[in-house]
Amino acid sequence: FLPSAPHNSKEYNIWLIFTKVTNVSTLSYKFRDLLHNLLNVSSVPLRFNIIVDKGSQTIAENQISETLYGNKSMVYSFYDIEESAKKIQDIVEVMTPHFSSKPGTYYSDALFYISLGLYRIAPQSQHFAILLDCDLYFKKDIALLFNEFDRFKPTALFGLAPELTPVYRHILHMYKAKHNTTFGEFYHDNNISNDVHPKGFQGYNTGVVLINLGAQRKSLEFPKLILNESVQAMTSKYRFRGHLGDQDFYTLVGYEHPHLIQTLNCGFNRQLCTWWRDHGYSSIFADYFKCNHDVVVLHGNCNTRIPK
Ligand code: UDP
Ligand code: MN
Repeated sequence: FLPSAPHNSKEYNIWLIFTKVTNVSTLSYKFRDLLHNLLNVSSVPLRFNIIVDKGSQTIAENQISETLYGNKSMVYSFYDIEESAKKIQDIVEVMTPHFSSKPGTYYSDALFYISLGLYRIAPQSQHFAILLDCDLYFKKDIALLFNEFDRFKPTALFGLAPELTPVYRHILHMYKAKHNTTFGEFYHDNNISNDVHPKGFQGYNTGVVLINLGAQRKSLEFPKLILNESVQAMTSKYRFRGHLGDQDFYTLVGYEHPHLIQTLNCGFNRQLCTWWRDHGYSSIFADYFKCNHDVVVLHGNCNTRIPK
């Protein structure tokens, strides 16, 4: 693979969050496996940016050195979670009452909202970033994911794939009882008609988040969107009480301001968690879970084992 001229000027920033890790945490192995996987599957030079606490950084360093054998090399930097949390404190304060299950301990809340404030944490020289969960497995080249930035509509700040469970049908229960809406309904081709979700909209999952940091920094709309008034208006309109952090917010933005989000197809974040199938939604779960696109990324969410 010989990168052409435009590719040379491109950045391939990967962001990972690796905190509260102990030597016995499965997160530690998920992290090592993902690094190993990415180094093998990537045709482009990745720059890793890893948000850590002190203890987790030591474990990360050990896992990185296990991954780098032979002549492999990897470009990476660490960012401190406490410093990062301070930079997004306003966002976390607005969001947690609506989207966190039990708000309020130390930096733990900030973890779930990093994607929204990454434009303040990342060096100004970074214009594009992809934030990844650690419980992912790439079946295909991650360059395919970076290429999705080229398909962004001009107004999009974020790129997200659909949530593949009925969780937002569940959360919208009260609103849907009184309003005729496609929100919360399942939808099988997320490439068509990005703007209005006329045929159903399952919400978004944040295991994979594409962020146009440059556009976000310049946006006049985004700073207003994260104000209390805006979040309050959206949550009360839809009677929305979530527990999934940033992805609850993006789902609401998908309802009210869809021009800000580019919907990626489900193959870019093929979730595997089947929890909702066994909790009241057995008859319709399959409609939400189905993904007809080529799988680029598998996501072993809710600790689901990834078939490799
Ligand atoms: N994470 C972390 N420490 C934790 C829990 C989560 O650093 O104690 C990070 C990690 O990057 C992880 C992401 O947050 O991949 C989201 O958590 P997880 O993937 O377990 O959530 P799920 O996808 O199952 O909802
Ligand atoms: Mn995950």
